[in-house]
Amino acid sequence: MPLDLPPGFAGLRFDNSYARLPERFFSRVNPTPVANPALIKVNHTLAEELGLNPQDLESEAGVHMLAGNLIPPGAEPLAQAYTGHQFGYLNRQLGDGRAILLGEVVDRQQGRRDIQLKGPGRTPYSRNGDGRAVLGPVMREYLVSEAMHYLGIKTTRALAAVTTGEWVYRETALPGAVLTRVAASHIRIGTFEYFRVRDDKEGLKILADHAMERHYPNIASAQNPYLELLRAVMDAQAKLVASWLHVGFIHGVMNTDNMSISGETIDYGPCAFLDVYDPATVFSSIDQGGRYAYGNQGSIALWNLARLAESLLPLLHDDMNEAVSEAEAVLSGFSALFNQYWLAGMSKKIGLASEREEDLQLITDFLQLMRDGRADFTLAFRLLADCVAAQDEASAEFRQLFDMEYEPLSAWLQRWRQRLALEGRDEATICQAMNQVNPLYIARNHQVERILAAALESGDYAPFEEMLQILRRPFEVQPGKAHYAARPPQMETPYRTFCGT
Ligand code: AMP
Ligand code: MG
Repeated sequence: MPLDLPPGFAGLRFDNSYARLPERFFSRVNPTPVANPALIKVNHTLAEELGLNPQDLESEAGVHMLAGNLIPPGAEPLAQAYTGHQFGYLNRQLGDGRAILLGEVVDRQQGRRDIQLKGPGRTPYSRNGDGRAVLGPVMREYLVSEAMHYLGIKTTRALAAVTTGEWVYRETALPGAVLTRVAASHIRIGTFEYFRVRDDKEGLKILADHAMERHYPNIASAQNPYLELLRAVMDAQAKLVASWLHVGFIHGVMNTDNMSISGETIDYGPCAFLDVYDPATVFSSIDQGGRYAYGNQGSIALWNLARLAESLLPLLHDDMNEAVSEAEAVLSGFSALFNQYWLAGMSKKIGLASEREEDLQLITDFLQLMRDGRADFTLAFRLLADCVAAQDEASAEFRQLFDMEYEPLSAWLQRWRQRLALEGRDEATICQAMNQVNPLYIARNHQVERILAAALESGDYAPFEEMLQILRRPFEVQPGKAHYAARPPQMETPYRTFCGT
């Protein structure tokens, strides 16, 4: 009996606002069927949030749908057009080369969410690519995006992952996979650049109105709504990138086509979490100049926002000079805004609930000690909570994180305790507050690699499942899982990540 998807299959009720935009915004294209799809995982929690039935998604018909073999009724598959600056250089011809949007659904909170297949075959934007994704990076995106979500950071999410039963040819033959990605939208800075480089003012306006209605509906009535759109995106991205820094996240490829207008983290390619604290850390094999290093991410966010501002200029004012000065006035507020978000989060990480002039120095001095002592970023903050008690100098575990003399560390701890004393909060309250913002478990690179290897080499997905469960409660001590919190073993060669889902 041929498989069939009835209307409303799995609770999917599409309402595709992007597909109603002018045809030049995208190309209608169906996924290319694959030989032999098999389920890796359906994200039950997310499915339920979207009002979908996870059991249906896991059924044979569901798996064929998640692999792109069956199109659910109401879907209007399309690949979005966009442009972007990659490593600082404009590339006019981007677009969804290995992704197809099935459509949009409205979640239980009335939020509109894109359902997109990543790795479903060629589209008109594939250029020389095959439009396919491979198993390792699909699992990696699943793990890391879930980790980010449960750390409280805005992100696209993984609804499901399936294997295709086909090989994908990179340097070697690798198992193919498809990720179902859920996002508030897939509108990027590069989507705006697409219309701007084509001098398509009408398209630009339609896109801006669509983005505004979707993500920032309260600014539509502003006097200059497009300037407010720039301001709103700037705020969302400043907040987002600051939150990355709070957990040691390095996106790795902050090209303008990978920066979402909604302020969600998107495009998990070469991303990774810091272990040893060093702001110059770069994991991506292609980022040779360190453009997207951990400590550069704030200034890169601003650079990218400047590309958004340039794209919006024709909508800001009829007089170009006026438009430029209005955009510049908005962007000039970025640094203060970003620093404010950064400082607020960092203050909480060291247990402060109020603000004082000297806090910035206190925080930067702690970071400097971490850098000098090559301390593990995540554990240094987490174990700091154990040092709150004044009678306790510092735990041996905490001291061991710093490869340095104890004296400067001890001096800093003393200053910090004096500062905490001004808060008037008891020790238990401070510790508890710190443990709610300093994760014990992050998606550590060596663990992620181990999990991918188990799946790739022995078809064993149990470690993947285990790690996902741990990352769902990153702030809670989970008995028997200490190895997930531990520092990586000393490695001879630095950790490297690669692009490409
Ligand atoms: P990314 O670096 O992942 O943001 O991708 C940059 C561009 O390359 C996007 O337009 C992708 O759609 C496209 N792309 C990446 N990998 C492939 C592939 N395997 N086949 C087709 N297009 C791809
Ligand atoms: Mg991309």
